[in-house]
Amino acid sequence: MEKKNIDWSNLGFGYQVTDKRFVSNYKNGAWDEGVLTEDATITMTECAGVLQYAQTCFEGLKAYTTEDGRTVCFRPDLNASRMKDSCERLQMPVFPEDKFVEAVKEVVRANEAYVPPFGSGATLYIRPYMFGSSAVIGVKPADEYQFRIFCTPVGPYFKGGAKPITIRVCDYDRAAPHGTGHIKAGLNYAMSLYQIVDAHEQGFDENMYLDAATRTYVEETGGANFIFITKDGTLVTPKSDSILPSITRRSLMVVAEKYLGMKVEHRPVRFDEIKDFAECGLCGTAAVISPVGKINDHGNEICFPSGMDEMGPVTKKLYDTLTGIQMGRIEAPEGWIVEI
Ligand SMILES: *Cc1c(COP(=O)(O)O)cnc(C)c1O
Repeated sequence: MEKKNIDWSNLGFGYQVTDKRFVSNYKNGAWDEGVLTEDATITMTECAGVLQYAQTCFEGLKAYTTEDGRTVCFRPDLNASRMKDSCERLQMPVFPEDKFVEAVKEVVRANEAYVPPFGSGATLYIRPYMFGSSAVIGVKPADEYQFRIFCTPVGPYFKGGAKPITIRVCDYDRAAPHGTGHIKAGLNYAMSLYQIVDAHEQGFDENMYLDAATRTYVEETGGANFIFITKDGTLVTPKSDSILPSITRRSLMVVAEKYLGMKVEHRPVRFDEIKDFAECGLCGTAAVISPVGKINDHGNEICFPSGMDEMGPVTKKLYDTLTGIQMGRIEAPEGWIVEI
């Protein structure tokens, strides 16, 4: 397979159009077969449900080249099942989970020339999404939907190593109790943009959101779950119904317990506990783990002993083991690596 002439290691995390994408339409109560198309544009009514009332959800996963040259993706079945949960919560029709995984493979195959080579640090980011496409003016679910998957090559998340970041405790909320924080809905992101722009203007990399009801428990950032390492080497990760169940975080919990023999706790985490932790990181598909060096709580700084120069030692071990599994260097649990 002739790869595209792309400067892989200098790619950013941005959108670049690729050759083919998958499109399936839902009409009269059923999904059609779906096709690959070269058309990267969408035409729809000005009154579409997605444009008026934000009826849309999405997923994100990556395809990449393993050390031994296979093209694979990581746990796509979990993206399919999470998208099912998102669709059910937003009154959207579920795209069948097995067909979701098949469509992901089709899109990657059709764009194989854009899958970055092993060792470049770059990956092919895959974006499945669905939206209400028929006209809706009274508030109700649309009658018709479109499910699409496109992909775009993205560069290494960290150029020149993962430097710990500084985050701040945010005064705004991300997700209400019994709200939509646990699903991957576009609306959760629209309302976070104000806070992230403000955080960047104030010199912070990310926002730490606390639970909206009591502001005493740690939830997550706008797009990543937290992991903490205690001084005696336990992995602690916050549990709440309004946190998005990150596939990376769930995988790290398995890696910690089964591969590294660590104790793992998934439980509510009080904000006033975190000053006692040894390491902190953010986890998600894009970066796998971004180490956090410092948390600013209205001028009060919590500095982790792991410092601002590099990932903490336990975080590093977790990172190396999970990326080792993803790249085929370490044997993966059954079903984690799906060959394209
Ligand atoms: C997508 C997302 C994550 C990370 O999930 P992964 O499955 O690990 O990529 C975390 N938090 C939020 C709010 C997200 O939307």
